[in-house]
Amino acid sequence: MMSTGRRLTRLATCVRAPNAGPMTLDGTNTYVVRAPGSPRVVVVDPGPLDEGHLAEIERFGTVELILLTHGHHDHSDAVAQLAAKTGAVARAVDERWCIGGDPLRGGDVVAAAGAEIEVVATPGHTSDSVCFVLPGDAGPDQGAGSCPSILTGDTILGRGTTVIAHPDGSLSNYLSSIERLRRLGRLHVLPAHGPALPDLAAICEIYLAHRRDKLELVRSVISGRRADPGDVDLVQRVIAAAYTHAPEGVLPAARASVRAQLEYLALEG
Ligand SMILES: [Zn+2]
Repeated sequence: MMSTGRRLTRLATCVRAPNAGPMTLDGTNTYVVRAPGSPRVVVVDPGPLDEGHLAEIERFGTVELILLTHGHHDHSDAVAQLAAKTGAVARAVDERWCIGGDPLRGGDVVAAAGAEIEVVATPGHTSDSVCFVLPGDAGPDQGAGSCPSILTGDTILGRGTTVIAHPDGSLSNYLSSIERLRRLGRLHVLPAHGPALPDLAAICEIYLAHRRDKLELVRSVISGRRADPGDVDLVQRVIAAAYTHAPEGVLPAARASVRAQLEYLALEG
């Protein structure tokens, strides 16, 4: 069944792609961003190549710009087709995804569809991950308790925790990125998977505590052995101790995260 877009804040509407799975939760959240009344839209993470999903996105207006939070397939597969259909410029950190526009860099401010979008570099989940702040946004109720929003891609998810996609991803980069996001304070969080969250700083605290706990657990499992991300037996022992409830479908991702943790501990010495 085709999803229907849900306006979550003043500027952002979520259109969920039909690609639910163990790694994508309910599916990829594509965000359509535009100032109220703008006939043009920005599409963030067009998602998988699915005709129905693209048709749903295009209902919101003329696509002026496509932005990517990072290059993973469940976010980027539809970029080329949507750009070809609409003539929109596509921009991402990785130039392989750019069509008619420059690569994004942290600190860039992009103006499109009547909205201002600030790029925050947040490497960690992948080396090319960024988040997008919408300083002019108000949400979700647009009343007194309302605040600007941030599109967090896979750096922060609506449920569960993020995979560190070792070796491209890096836990030390990820922890620095979460610290950077925490300092942005209270922003409405619009993640690429799962539901929206009310407070960026609060969820960053939870993520940092979770990572500290996981690292403590890994330290206790390796108990004096050398932390070597290439040690298959060690990775397996950490999985057995720390990911007892992980369903089969997420085990490859869990192994990647364990290797990222071992790499972090090895660098820490
Ligand atoms: Zn991803």
